[in-house]
This record gives sequence, structure tokens and C-alpha cells, in this order.
Amino acid sequence: MGKSCQKYAKLVSESLDRPLNLVEKIKLRIHLWMCAYCSGFLRNAQKLRSFLQEDQEVSPPLPPQKQQELKKLVQKNIEEGTDSNPPPDE
Ligand SMILES: [Zn+2]
Repeated sequence: MGKSCQKYAKLVSESLDRPLNLVEKIKLRIHLWMCAYCSGFLRNAQKLRSFLQEDQEVSPPLPPQKQQELKKLVQKNIEEGTDSNPPPDE
């Protein structure tokens, strides 16, 4: 479980209570592609939600080009977010 996972796990649970905004959705989606832990967590959360309420429609996938752009963007974001490991001074 990576450091950013805590953030995304929280976002997953929040998504059960409120609609995520577009940026949150995209970041979460991209993280889920890369992270087995969080995608597992989301599956469980969705199971739980479908108990509580009817399934929400999942937003359609982005075109591949846009996915690449966003992936880079979010990866950058995640790297910058790992502040426990500052880059070495050069
Ligand atoms: Zn994760």
C-alpha cells in the first residue's frame, strides 16, 4: 500500500457519500489502474454500496490519448505528494 493510497482510499469511501468532482474522479480512476490495493478496496466499497443503494452508472472510459495525458499528470502529482522521501540534493 503506497502513501498516496490513504488519500485514494479516503476518496473511494467519500465517493459513497457524495459525487466526486471530475478531477477527483479522474485521479482516482488513474490510480485504480495502477494500484491493485485500491481497486480491490473500491470493489469492496462498491459491493457495500450496492447493498445500500442502487448502483450508480460508471462514467465512460476516456480516449487513450487523454488517458496518457492524465496518467502523466497524476503520476507527477503522486510523485510530488510523496513528501516523506525528498529528492536528493545535487
Ligand atoms: Zn492505491
